[in-house]
Order: sequence, then C-alpha cells, then structure tokens
Amino acid sequence: MLYPALVASILITGCNVNLNAGSGASGNGTEVSSDSVSGNGTEVSADSVSGDVAGDAGWEITGGDPWIDSDIKENVVNHDKPDLKDDFHMAVNYEWLKDAEIKEGYTLETPLVEIESETIEKALDIIKDESLNSHDAQLVHDLYNTVIDWDKRDVLGIDPALPVLDDIESLSSIDELTEFISDPARCSCVDTFIVPNVEPGYDEPDRNTVSVDTDVLILEDAAEYHELTNAGERMYEAKKGLYLTLTGKLGIDDAEALERYNSVLSFEEQIASVKLTEADRNSPEIYKLVNNVYTNEEIKNRKGNFPLYEILDGYGFGSSDKYTVMEPEVIEKLDELYIEDNLEIIKSYMSVHWLLNAANKLDRECHEAYIRRNSIIYGTTGSVSDEIEAYDVVLKYIYEPLEREYLKKYDAVDMKKDITGICEDIIDEYKTILKEEDWLSEATVDAAVNKLEHMKIRAVYPDKWTDYSGLDLSELNYVECVRAIELFKRDIQKNMVNEEVDNELWNINILDANAYYSPIDNSINIVLGILGSDVYNDNMSREQILGGIGAVIGHEISHAFDPSGSQFDENGKFTDWWTKEDHEAFEERTQKLIDYYNSITVFKDVNVNGSNVQGEAIADMASIKVMLAMAAGEDDFDYDAFFRGYAAFWRQSTLYENEYYKAKANPHPMNYLRTNVTLQQYDEFLETYGISEGDGMYLAPEDRVTVW
Ligand SMILES: [Zn+2]
Repeated sequence: MLYPALVASILITGCNVNLNAGSGASGNGTEVSSDSVSGNGTEVSADSVSGDVAGDAGWEITGGDPWIDSDIKENVVNHDKPDLKDDFHMAVNYEWLKDAEIKEGYTLETPLVEIESETIEKALDIIKDESLNSHDAQLVHDLYNTVIDWDKRDVLGIDPALPVLDDIESLSSIDELTEFISDPARCSCVDTFIVPNVEPGYDEPDRNTVSVDTDVLILEDAAEYHELTNAGERMYEAKKGLYLTLTGKLGIDDAEALERYNSVLSFEEQIASVKLTEADRNSPEIYKLVNNVYTNEEIKNRKGNFPLYEILDGYGFGSSDKYTVMEPEVIEKLDELYIEDNLEIIKSYMSVHWLLNAANKLDRECHEAYIRRNSIIYGTTGSVSDEIEAYDVVLKYIYEPLEREYLKKYDAVDMKKDITGICEDIIDEYKTILKEEDWLSEATVDAAVNKLEHMKIRAVYPDKWTDYSGLDLSELNYVECVRAIELFKRDIQKNMVNEEVDNELWNINILDANAYYSPIDNSINIVLGILGSDVYNDNMSREQILGGIGAVIGHEISHAFDPSGSQFDENGKFTDWWTKEDHEAFEERTQKLIDYYNSITVFKDVNVNGSNVQGEAIADMASIKVMLAMAAGEDDFDYDAFFRGYAAFWRQSTLYENEYYKAKANPHPMNYLRTNVTLQQYDEFLETYGISEGDGMYLAPEDRVTVW
C-alpha cells in the first residue's frame, strides 16, 4: 500500500529487523506505521531541541536484569567482556558491539543493515543505468530522478503542497467536504479519517473484500492521548517543529499555527478515546476486535453523519458484498464529529496531516525539518545519502518495477530452488516435532500438521507481478508522483473487489532485508533481500545455514502456531481449530512465557512487555527447537558454531531513544534477549558450554518457558 495501512502490519508478521521504528517501508521513515519492516532511517542532525528533550527524560540505560542491554553501545563500552556462561549474547558479540558504528541516518547497526547496503549498491547500478529502456526502468528512473533533483525541488519550494491545501481551504460546507473526501483524484494522499483497502477477508480468505481501517493520529499511539509518555512527548515536539517550519514558509504566524496544531490534537483526543492502541494492535486479540463484517446493504443503509458508503463508492469499492470495518467505534465517533459546526476543525485536521506527510517531498529546507523530526523521535544523527534516500523512495512506492529489473541483472533462479528446498526440509522436521508434543490431543496435532502441509512457501521472488504499464510518472514533481502512484494502485484495487484472491501476487517488497509469515494465506515469505552474502552463500557450513537463514525460516513457520497465527487455519481462514482443552493448555504455557518476559528489566525501571512480545518470542524458541532437532540428525554437528552463529545473527547496536520506543511498542524482544532467553531454554545449549546453577545463562528446567 502506498500509505501502509495498519492492516498490513497486522496481517503480515514482519520479523527480524526493525531498523527504524517509524518506518513502514524500507527507507526513510516517510510514513507512519506501527510495523517493524526493514528500513534505514533517514534522519539528520539532532539540534538543541532533541538534546533538551532527551535530557529532560533523564535517560538511564543501566540497571538491566538479568543482563544489561547490550544492544546499546554505551553499555558495552562501559562493561568488561562477560563470561559466555553469564551473558552469551554480549560475550560472543563483544568486539563487534564495542566497535559498531551506527551509520548516519540509521537508528541501528546489525548484520541485516549490511545486507541491505549490499542490495542498495546493486540496485543503484540499475537505477543509474540510463541505457535500460523498458517501461519498468523508465518508471524507476523517473521517480528516482525526481526525488534526487534538489535544484528543481528547491525552485518549487513548498508549491507542490499548495493545490491540495487550497482545495481543502476552499471547502465551505459539509456537503463539499463529503464531495472532496469521496473523490480520490482530489483527496489522494490526504488523511480523510478512513483507509479503505481491497484484500482477503478473514472469514473468506479466497475472496477479496473491502477492509476499512482508520487514520494514524499525530501522536501515532492512541494510548498517548490517554496518558502522555516520554515517547509521546517527543512525538508531539518533533511534529510541532516540522509543522511550524512548513507554516512559516507559508507566511503563517507561529502563534496562529501552533494554535491550529494544538486544536487538531484536541480534536484527535475524541477519536483516540475509542481508537485501538498500539498494545491492542500487538495483542493476539486484535483479529477478534477488528473482524467486524457488514453486508453491502448494512453499510449502504447505515444511519449516521459520517458518509462511509459515499467514500467507499467514490473509491470504486461500492459494489463489495462485504466490508470489514476494523474500528466501528471510531466510525460511530465520526458520526458525532462530522457536523457543520466542526467543518473548520476537520479542515485543519486534514491540512495539518497533509503538510506533515508532504514535508519530506518538498524542498531541502522542509526535508531537513523532516529529518530533525525523526532525530527527535528516534535519536538518530545525520542523514542517509541523497542516493539512498531516493532509492528508498523508489522501493517504497514502486518496488515491483525495480525488482523486475533487479532480477534481470542478478539471476536468482538457483537460489529460489535452494531456499525452497531448505523451507521444505524445515517444514518436514516441524511435522515430526508437532507429532511428539505430549500436551496436545491427536485431533489438534493432526490439524496442526495439516496446516504445515498446506503452508505456502514463497521463496526469493514471485513468478507473477502487477502490471505497471498503465502508470506514467514523466514530467511530475515528487508530490504528484506519489499521488499518481496512489491513484494507480487504487484503480488496480477497484478491479479486485469481490474477485477471487490471486495468491501468485505477493504484494510485498522482496528487496527488504526481512522475512514474513502471513496468516491469511498461511505463507512463509523468505525474500531475496534477506539473502545477502553473509546470510546465504555457496560455501556455508550446515551450522551456519541452520543458525542463520534456517533459524529465520523456522521462526516464520512458527508464527503459524503463535497466539496470533494459531487463530487461522490451513487456508488462512479465521477459525478455531483447537480442542478446548488444548487451547487452554496453550494459553497456560503462553502465560508462563509472558510472565518470564515481564520479569526482565531492560534498563532503569523499564521492563519488557511480555504480552507485546509473546508471538515473536514463541517463534524464536520454536525455531531453535526445530534447528536442534535437525542438528541431532547430523554427523559431528558443531553446536558451538551453531550457537555462536545464531548470536551473531542477532547482534545489534542501537540508540536509547529507539530502544525505549521498542520496549514500549514493538512486538519483537530486544535482540540480546532474542539470543539469551531463547537459547537458555535448551539443554543442548547449556551442555555445550557447561552452564549450571549460579551462571547468568542458567534456567532451571521447571522455569523454562518454551510453548512448543
Ligand atoms: Zn517474527
């Protein structure tokens, strides 16, 4: 999706990287998203503002228990190398962690950032090759050249944002407002309260339906409107600074602009009062909460001020048999708010959001203000190069044309075969393990094995692609390009309403250094971008394969049986396939894991949120269990190499702002915990290093928390 709808982050489990907590796509944190998909953060120098904000927060990064947070470099630098029996992650990675440099504009450094850099370099060769003349190459060149042409962007200044702004300002009645928000050609890329998408329904995964999500608010997490945290305060300041830069360029007085900004925040409070929080969205309960299905008649004939059906019809989605309204309470709240008396504040809402979203697509001054915004939120310094920035934009908005050209130049046919084979082997091993689970009834085991047998393996690249021949980006400025792409994608969606789902289209960016499990089609997605030379090459030992990409594949498969994925059956239908007793046993085991993670202190008084990380933690542990089962069948398996390889895969150096943000809202455990907590569950690990009671890595058998 052009604007990553939150539905995408709910349905697809993005698993490993979280290079930038604010970025919904590879790159520069351009759009708001709660997802953890890969991307570097294009962030520029923190000025005094971020210094003040961070200073006031009274950061304290020590005090971790049972381990210090070695994802933060200062903690490593100020600490001697520990014994690997006490802190395996830090001991194995000590030299790397001590020397790690976070690149300008990035929120962290990990092996996956290096893999991403490798991909970027190869992709830039294509992007800059003017001899390529396919339509795909033309689109890529047009967008890239538009983004990187700073001279032209500086001449245009803030002008590209004005047509939409003027259109919003011209609305003089609620009826005119309804006309505006029901016309995608006019309101493309404007936040108009709802975000409709055509995608498989939870109850009928073979057929496309229309889902209706709602806008992301300025403070992003609705919980911030109930009780402002340090992260929310920074979000407020960061976006305020950005907004005032833009309004300054429009000749609007700061006091007046600030009043408008604050009034929009107050208005949003009313929406936030009924909106799902980030914690809700990370909870396994989310599917039940958002799966509110209505018939066409029900939506068409609903009473209420908010013109839901008119908007959907305007998008070309009016003929859908069914609609999934993810937050019906927000729609009801909008019924209250969508009145003539609120016309001006609604216009302010749209224009403030529009400017905040358009900022990084305008001139250098606006872009730098946008970079400052990111530095306040994530603590980054510097910015990525203009080339990487422009690459990120291409990848974010038109990844398929770029990927097709990429595959023409860098053949991956053998890799696809090989990775598919590895996935099949791991799925087979998984079946054996499931059959041995003594706490499950035969009926549930059979259903689980059936789910594995139906699992779709999407390895490396798809065989079918979206047709981009109808898109033309020549002669457009950056803002116009993005709006044209959004309209183009909306048109494609129009034709999908009520149609059968085409599972051959993946609809994910395959150049990201990431991997996914999608419960709605029961697929694992092990894409090209994560298969850089450090993770996958021809000369790898079995230990390296199992500790690296093997563990990633095992992790993705495990999401089929985590508290979220386990609510979907072998075809991706949202249904309960467990016996009651087995489900209770599953919940009991999961609760033990949540309790254990809750007991872990990251730093100062910040603890892990066990509930948030349950799905990812379960997947990590199950994956290692499967890898160890495969290892048991190998001659002379080198366990030390395997465990070290696993710890090395998760090494990461990050900034404390980013780490704080992660502790608060990210579904992934801290990387040092992904190594330590995961490995300490297994006898093979404890035995390899002679770890026993009294050692920091020791966990007594009765205290272990594996679910699978
Ligand atoms: Zn995951």
